[in-house]
Amino acid sequence: MSDGKKIAIKWIEENKERLIEISDAIWGYAELGFVEFKSSKLLADELEKHGFKIDRGVAGIPTAFVASWGSGRPVIGVMGEYDALPGLSQKAVPCKDHMEEGEPGHGCGHNIHGTSALGGALATRAAMEKAGIPGTIKFFGCPAEEMLSGKVWMVREKVFDGVDACLSHHPSSMNLASLKSSNANNAVKFHFHGKTSHAAGSPEQGRSSLDAVELMNIGVNFLREHVIQDARIHYVIEEGGGQPNVVPDYARSWYLVRAPERDQLEPIYQRILKIAEGAALMTETRLEVEFVKGIYNELPNKVLSEIVTSNMREIGTPEYTDEEMEFARKISETIPTENKRNSLWSSKRPDWEELIDVIMDRSIPDNWTEGMISHGSTDVSDVSWNTPTMEFSTTTYPLGLPGHSWQNVAIAGMSIGHKSLLYASKIIATTAVDLLTKPELLKKAKEAHKEKLRGRTYKSPVPPEAKPPLDQWLK
Ligand SMILES: [Zn+2]
Repeated sequence: MSDGKKIAIKWIEENKERLIEISDAIWGYAELGFVEFKSSKLLADELEKHGFKIDRGVAGIPTAFVASWGSGRPVIGVMGEYDALPGLSQKAVPCKDHMEEGEPGHGCGHNIHGTSALGGALATRAAMEKAGIPGTIKFFGCPAEEMLSGKVWMVREKVFDGVDACLSHHPSSMNLASLKSSNANNAVKFHFHGKTSHAAGSPEQGRSSLDAVELMNIGVNFLREHVIQDARIHYVIEEGGGQPNVVPDYARSWYLVRAPERDQLEPIYQRILKIAEGAALMTETRLEVEFVKGIYNELPNKVLSEIVTSNMREIGTPEYTDEEMEFARKISETIPTENKRNSLWSSKRPDWEELIDVIMDRSIPDNWTEGMISHGSTDVSDVSWNTPTMEFSTTTYPLGLPGHSWQNVAIAGMSIGHKSLLYASKIIATTAVDLLTKPELLKKAKEAHKEKLRGRTYKSPVPPEAKPPLDQWLK
């Protein structure tokens, strides 16, 4: 192991209490997308304390920021997320027990995401300074990954321009620098405006906006048979009227449409727009379409994946105490075995059957994911079209747990989560040091990126006039 990498690992060991403290503080704040004021400030202030130059409120988003240290090329980027999910408030205990009912919680472990990136960036800085490594390390404070896709707006405003490679870490149940792509998506709100009237006394005078929402949903549900197999369409009714004896004059649905490539998404999206117009026509209501955001499918970088995997193996995965294993076992028991079986089966990992009785997977499997597509989506994708990018995962949760769950919140706030955080920080820092010190690796990563693009260019999926949906949680 090079001196630079040793210095980075040592820095994380010496500063682990502080990193854990920051992760736990963000876990406690549990702020939703675009309102992560305390979380983003905590991270930015910490970077500033260590000599990073901070640019706050980038891309017109108060909770987005960029922190830079060093000068000149290469420029290595590290992305940190810190948004929570609504309704998932949960204590760090192995049974369902909310802290504050209905409040947000870190069900995707983004308190760890933001802090592993912080640890990675600060340790890289320490290595650069002490080992005299030239170049720049940049931390991208990326808000609202869930639903509102902060990075799309940051990419549109060219915040990531000039970055030679970008890294991030996501908690999961496996140690893996995945080569899976992800679904592109569009999020859109349909506002229907009708006319109120007494629902029994003068229904003929009313024009129900709720009818329009329901008819649109029926149309879309019939459309499902005629879209490609891998497409996904989800919706919620955000507003459906006040009470049943008043014909509602306003109703609103929120749709999310996904497909493996943006080219496949667009025709499905256009058909959904037609269905919405049809519903308005049928009910004599007025339709207003609010485009919330769109994102691309991910282009994972194989060269970066190999460097990350090699560092993962060199550092070695964390061990767990008996108490931690007991906690994990209790959490694991909250899901039926058949769910775990299905989850392992759908991972298509070659040795999945051997993992049925494993709770915490400490192995680092050979990568089996090339050419596969994950059904979820991430705004890391939009960065990945612009620079070689790798988001890897480390084991944080027991195998088979559902994502976005109270179980994830519990683990992300206790010592198993902390171990994942420190391990990931070391992997980010050692990979960044490799990229800063071995120009041939960076060159190869760039070539792999070019190959993945196949001559295609990135065009922002959000229209030029669209603004980041900063007030979504205030509506
Ligand atoms: Zn996430």
